Amino acid sequence: MNTRNRDVQSIVHGLNTGLYINDEWIEAEKGRTFAVENPATGKTLTSVADGSEADAERAIAVAGNTQASWAKTSPRERSEILRRAYDIIIQRTEDLAALMTAEMGKPLAEARGEVAYGAEFLRWFSEEAVRIPGDYTNSGDGKNRILVTRVPVGPCVLITPWNFPLAMATRKIGPAIASGCTMVFKPAPQTPLTSLALVQILREAGLPKGVLNVVTSSDAPKVVGAWMRSGIARKVSFTGSTDVGKLLLAQAAQHVMRSSMELGGNAPFVVCEDADIDRAVNGAMMAKLRNMGEACTAANRFLVHHSVAADFSAKLATRMGELTVGDGSLPGTDVGPLIDTAALEKVQLLVDDALSRNAEIIVGGRRRDGAGYFYEPTVLANVHPDSLLMNTEIFGPVAPVIPFEDESEAISLANDTEWGLVGYIFTQDIDRALRLSDEIEVGMAGINTGIVSNPGAPFGGVKQSGLGREGGRIGIEEFLEYKYLAIPR
Ligand code: NAD
Repeated sequence: MNTRNRDVQSIVHGLNTGLYINDEWIEAEKGRTFAVENPATGKTLTSVADGSEADAERAIAVAGNTQASWAKTSPRERSEILRRAYDIIIQRTEDLAALMTAEMGKPLAEARGEVAYGAEFLRWFSEEAVRIPGDYTNSGDGKNRILVTRVPVGPCVLITPWNFPLAMATRKIGPAIASGCTMVFKPAPQTPLTSLALVQILREAGLPKGVLNVVTSSDAPKVVGAWMRSGIARKVSFTGSTDVGKLLLAQAAQHVMRSSMELGGNAPFVVCEDADIDRAVNGAMMAKLRNMGEACTAANRFLVHHSVAADFSAKLATRMGELTVGDGSLPGTDVGPLIDTAALEKVQLLVDDALSRNAEIIVGGRRRDGAGYFYEPTVLANVHPDSLLMNTEIFGPVAPVIPFEDESEAISLANDTEWGLVGYIFTQDIDRALRLSDEIEVGMAGINTGIVSNPGAPFGGVKQSGLGREGGRIGIEEFLEYKYLAIPR
């Protein structure tokens, strides 16, 4: 069915907005709900169940009780559930994209891109489910056979942020299903609707009762705290801010839970003097403006050789100045709203701080008055390295340009941060590209490209950007334990 023209309100009204526990959609304790807002208009889209600690306890008990039977299902069965869910998502691209734009703000074209990207994790892990490896070797002294199998880690706590409401969920749910783990899942309170639509799809695809349990809530510490204290959950997989990730790691220590952390970033975008400047500008548009700059992979610091800084900044400003800012559901919109007022105020504060240290605005530099949380695409030139935005995730469409003198200064500026998720390197010299990718402390590096995300690649960071990887060959390993059998010869 082509749903291109369906009204988003009718899509919202078709959703189950309760808690999803043991294959039932139920009300939260005391019937509590919280509102979900459209950031382009500031208006309420709908309300969803506001789960409590008691609701969370029920959900984790179900995940615990279902683990043993779910672990015994065949890899093929799990694979085919994922593959069917992939097909349904693709069929419903237009509805899912409209829903995502309404609750999160990204322009429809980007929302469609996320539907394709998010669905791909289910297809990828449907293929991985039937390829879980094992080992069989002899011990060095020849006296033992060593048999190594993989088993599911057990019930998992999954927590996602608001900026990629589908893909951040499928990147966790896909490998959890593939490996045979049960789950409790809490989506971000700003964007629960896409996740609830995904749950419905997984159910239609045949996911058995009790495998996935979802608690939406406006009180994350209560719900997640109950899961972390339960002693039932064996793993936590979190995507979100570094500060919350640290809290969860401390909580995970109590029961020595396996932990995967996809945390914040502060990506350097390095443009060398020999770079193809037009290519670098194209890359910068992707790395800065995808998702309105609200991405952990967003280029946060444009480190540009002083000899090309003016040219790069001027070309980037021309491109950014041509963009149409507005409601992402309208045709022709390039840049949607930020998620909320707090995000808008943070971006303005960072820009004002840079200006107070003699940065110059080449384009943009202002929020929009009126309904919605809009900020103009902005290029700041001559940003001082002491500026606050050098060590704060901007999470908005602001590109600060910091000139550097030579390669060693570029490397030391790039590494002058506690984060290390991704870096971008623009140069036409292959030796320099490899040297810089060796020296810059990141989990991922884009060479002459502004985008690195790919379901077939291991996504993740070093330093305070996280622990573990999602996607790629090792994505499923995060949800598996090794079990070694010693068999004397
Ligand atoms: P956030 O940390 O505020 O929230 C993320 C999730 O954690 C939400 O579901 C939230 O309700 C929950 N949460 C908040 N406080 C909690 C607590 N005390 N205990 C348990 N759960 C809690 O992050 P956000 O604002 O939703 O997302 C933006 C952040 O996510 C940015 O820092 C961004 O870089 C990061 N991010 C990282 C990746 C990655 O793959 N590395 C991807 C996307 C976003």
